[in-house]
Amino acid sequence: MKLKRYLWIALCLIALVASVLPAYSQQFLQPHIGYQVSTLGALNVGVYEGATTIAELKSHGNFGLGTLEGLDGEMVVLDGKFYQIRADGVAYPVTDNSKTPFSAVTFFRKEQSLPLTGLLTYQKLLSQIDEQLPTLNLPYAIRLQGTFPSLKVRSEPKQTPPYKPLNDVISQQQIVFELQNVQGTLVGFRLPQYFKDVNQTGYHFHFITSDSRAGGHVLDGTFINPIIDVETLQDWQIMLPNNKAFKQASLE
Ligand SMILES: [Zn+2]
Repeated sequence: MKLKRYLWIALCLIALVASVLPAYSQQFLQPHIGYQVSTLGALNVGVYEGATTIAELKSHGNFGLGTLEGLDGEMVVLDGKFYQIRADGVAYPVTDNSKTPFSAVTFFRKEQSLPLTGLLTYQKLLSQIDEQLPTLNLPYAIRLQGTFPSLKVRSEPKQTPPYKPLNDVISQQQIVFELQNVQGTLVGFRLPQYFKDVNQTGYHFHFITSDSRAGGHVLDGTFINPIIDVETLQDWQIMLPNNKAFKQASLE
């Protein structure tokens, strides 16, 4: 009788561990992995067709940035919530069945905070982060929180096929928003120069206000005493689109 009871307890414990472990390991036990969908080179030549769903992207990260099918605005991912900042500058929730042509995410785990104080321009901020990072030869996920005296962000309207190259869309159609004394979070990455053609090298940030109502791709700003949290990424995966647009694009 007693043995049977112990057996039951053991089985229950195994079942409990088995149910909790996959979610736990995904977020905490895995190495620090960055995951990107498609390449910036493909986006540059106008491959705006969705390569994967947001539901799928969620299994690779809870923090990051990107865009939606048709270059439909700027995407920000923070604390597992996916937002789309459309050309009106407003942040909308992204549905699981939406598709992304280009994005980068990770399960963000703060490893170190960088002490930067005083009033900083965007360029000064970036150069000071550069100075404090342990090496510039590894990718980083970076979260920057605070109330910012000014922030210049942009978005762009959804495109329709035949798609124009990214530079043409940005130079002709981007909408710039100048935010003042705005509280929120910059979500982004710093990637080494050897990522050239595959992703944006150096810093790339998207912004979301603390009330989750507005944001965009960060162009410029001023910063006072920002809270900067950093995670070194030891691995970087690239999901290559299995669609006609990507296969036929001129990427050579
Ligand atoms: Zn961007």
